[in-house]
Amino acid sequence: MRKIAVIGAGQSGLQLALGLQKHGYAVTVVSNRTPEQVLAGRVTSSQAMFDAALQPERDLGINFWEKECPRVEGVAFTVPAPDGSGNKAIFWEARLDNYFQSVDQRVKFSGWMKEFAKRGGDLVIKDATAEDIEGYTKSHDLVLIATGKGEIGRMFETDKENSPYTTPMRALALTYVTGMAPRKPFTAVSFNLIPGVGEYFVFPALSITGACEIMVFEGVPGGPMDCWSDVKTPEQHLARSKEICEKFLPWEAERNHSLELTDANGIMTGRFAPVVRKPLCRLPSGRMVLGMADTVVTNDPLTGQGSNTASKCAAIYTAKILERGSKPFDAEWMQATFNSFWEYAQWVTRWTNSLLIPPAPQILELMGAAQQIHPLARRIANAFNNPPDVNPWWFDVGEAHKVIGKMQAHA
Ligand SMILES: Cc1cc2nc3c(=O)[nH]c(=O)nc-3n(C[C@H](O)[C@H](O)[C@H](O)COP(=O)(O)OP(=O)(O)OC[C@H]3O[C@@H](n4cnc5c(N)ncnc54)[C@H](O)[C@@H]3O)c2cc1C
Repeated sequence: MRKIAVIGAGQSGLQLALGLQKHGYAVTVVSNRTPEQVLAGRVTSSQAMFDAALQPERDLGINFWEKECPRVEGVAFTVPAPDGSGNKAIFWEARLDNYFQSVDQRVKFSGWMKEFAKRGGDLVIKDATAEDIEGYTKSHDLVLIATGKGEIGRMFETDKENSPYTTPMRALALTYVTGMAPRKPFTAVSFNLIPGVGEYFVFPALSITGACEIMVFEGVPGGPMDCWSDVKTPEQHLARSKEICEKFLPWEAERNHSLELTDANGIMTGRFAPVVRKPLCRLPSGRMVLGMADTVVTNDPLTGQGSNTASKCAAIYTAKILERGSKPFDAEWMQATFNSFWEYAQWVTRWTNSLLIPPAPQILELMGAAQQIHPLARRIANAFNNPPDVNPWWFDVGEAHKVIGKMQAHA
């Protein structure tokens, strides 16, 4: 029986572990927190996951919360008028082909860890060090590093060519709330882009207390939405979240009259630089380990893709491991496995990075044209489910004009 060690019990690591376990592999998962600590801890993400990323969970039968979790049917996009009048300069909304969902990672990861152990998996609770990882390369056929943005991931060298930013591009904050007035006429991620200030998006989700809404703030560093350093208590965090909406987005503030936090840990602030890393790391012993998901491709949460990409990475790696049979997991195989993932993930990175700087003219044109051309709005909305679809028209003026013309004819 082949032995696989997965360091890190998050979206990619647990999904991979549960998948391999199903195929009879002996899997060890190393987590730096117990399921109980994860459940009682802070929120870590807004984890909106679209249909193509939910499917691998369904295929493994680990979509335990799908029935309970609110279904989000679409995407709404707004740019407020720059004159401060409280009007909208751009607005469109479109339904997705299939709904998306967000299950609080505290609920999901603690649940999956318990399930993994229940199914006979070896769950080790330890903050894994480089020496621990060396140890696993001796006892296991393959070691995967799925530690997300954890420090240990720095053992993988930065891929400078694919990492255009070296500092955080947004000041992030999350606020999990109940009591928000529902969006009409259909449930959606309501995405607001305030030029020079940042972005605010909000959508229904499932948290430890049941259904909720997650408010996500992406402030341009040094700008007026980078405003969390003086916030000391959960109550102040909620108050600041409401103030931002009142100041910049009156249509969102309208929904916020009866807000309450889901729990005192339903808040988060932070910032990190997006980075792509080389996927293989050679340890002092000469043995190799392979990185996956955020460990090697960390994007800003602006396009809500990290968990989606992690799920797709786990599905690709699982298939490659199964395909390998009893042959060795050598460096060549590791690189080829990552390359299959990068064929997809490079578009997530390019698309997300394009939105972290003032948008190129064709992006503004596309977002504006989507107001009049509904099929274009649908195409953009559904790209959240499959970011490679934005290539090439998102990045090239000529191609953008072609797609606008085509969609107009279609409309
Ligand atoms: C504010 C914010 C909002 C986001 N919103 C979205 C969204 O709407 N949609 C979306 O798709 N993505 C979103 N993301 C990103 C998404 O949460 C991540 O990309 C995703 O969870 C990455 O999965 P992963 O498996 O790589 O790592 P993670 O899910 O982060 O899991 C890594 C795990 O490894 C553990 N670990 C770390 N170091 C060690 C160690 N040394 N030993 C043992 N264990 C260790 C960590 O505790 C963690 O549990 C958001 C992120 C942030 C910060």
